[in-house]
Amino acid sequence: MPFTRRVREIADSATLVMSARAKAMRSSGIDVVNMSAGEPDFPTPPNVVEAAQAFLAEGQIKYTATPGIPELRSAAAARYAGMRSVPELRPENILVGCGGKHVIYTALQTICDDGDEVIFASPYWVSYPEMVKLAGGRPVVLPTRADQGFALDPEALRAAITPRSKAIIINTPSNPTGMRMDAASLEALAKIAVEHDLWILSDEIYDELCYAGEAYLSPISLGPEVRAHTLALNSFSKTYSMTGWRIGYAAGPVELIKAMSKVQAQSTSNACTLSQMAALEALTGNQSIVAERREAFAARRRRMVDGIRAIEGFSIAREPQGAFYVFPSTSDLYGSRLGEREINGSMDLSMALLEEAHVATVPGVAFGDDAHIRLSYAISDEQIDEGIKRIAAMVGRLER
Ligand code: PLP
Repeated sequence: MPFTRRVREIADSATLVMSARAKAMRSSGIDVVNMSAGEPDFPTPPNVVEAAQAFLAEGQIKYTATPGIPELRSAAAARYAGMRSVPELRPENILVGCGGKHVIYTALQTICDDGDEVIFASPYWVSYPEMVKLAGGRPVVLPTRADQGFALDPEALRAAITPRSKAIIINTPSNPTGMRMDAASLEALAKIAVEHDLWILSDEIYDELCYAGEAYLSPISLGPEVRAHTLALNSFSKTYSMTGWRIGYAAGPVELIKAMSKVQAQSTSNACTLSQMAALEALTGNQSIVAERREAFAARRRRMVDGIRAIEGFSIAREPQGAFYVFPSTSDLYGSRLGEREINGSMDLSMALLEEAHVATVPGVAFGDDAHIRLSYAISDEQIDEGIKRIAAMVGRLER
């Protein structure tokens, strides 16, 4: 029996596919350097584990209110109020969901009617187009260029707007490029969005992983008018190394949060109660681990950028400033061969790196940009060095 058109039209998550393939190779005994992962290698902070264990021991793991336990909504509102200089934020402005991904999904289900257009730049996070399609919407992709720091031209946004445009998604720092949007661009994009009454979905999941540039700027800090159009999305996955807990949240106008809550009530009810308690400890406990891990990532970024730049055929036009990815251009290698294998795009290159060099990466085509591949430095220094060594050795064997 055929599955729905919705399901037939969406792609598998290439990042999860690559990661799964690398894991399968590993479990068959092959030593794979996994540069494809989108998660920190650090464990959940110990205070968070202890708080969760204590709560678990009480055995009171019940349903909670749909938008989240009041203490967690308060703590998330306080975090955003403090960090984004928006004292007006209240717990009612917060919805807690099952990870950042789920919160974005719920937002799109809430704002997108059939045929509505959602605009975002490429390279984009793999799930945006598929989530828009699942909501019945139409993704509108605006390409950006590496030599311009993957910056989205506000005029390109203006030109893409039609009567069906519903929202723009902004992701800074970006997965996969690691680039940050500067304040002037953010302000210009937000102004256009407000003029055309678009929602701004601001994916701020890597806000604590910025290594260069100005202080973090979110559209919700750009005054009441922009805030009234903005849903800021965040998660515990990257900041607190809590990917498996599946817990994230959104901060936005009360009416939107209430509408999203209606969707959530009919899908997951609430986010996992134990994970909400863990998240509460993450937000209210000692924060020193956040800066410690940021510093560790900053050093790894240096190592990775320098190592990749030394490989012929890989180039990084501008250094990534955040998240934990590098997105080098690899198109100089296309048209080359390795024995019977032809390298004619990012998928061929990633596959060759996995099968010949035993290094897992993600092909840029998954992010809407075939001229690049993504490498994650959320791994140890030794693994970074080993991965770079293997990539350089394989590239040295290519016949060009
Ligand atoms: N947004 C971006 C840009 C991401 O890279 C990710 C995860 O990789 C997410 C959202 C969702 O993360 P999670 O669902 O673990 O909170």
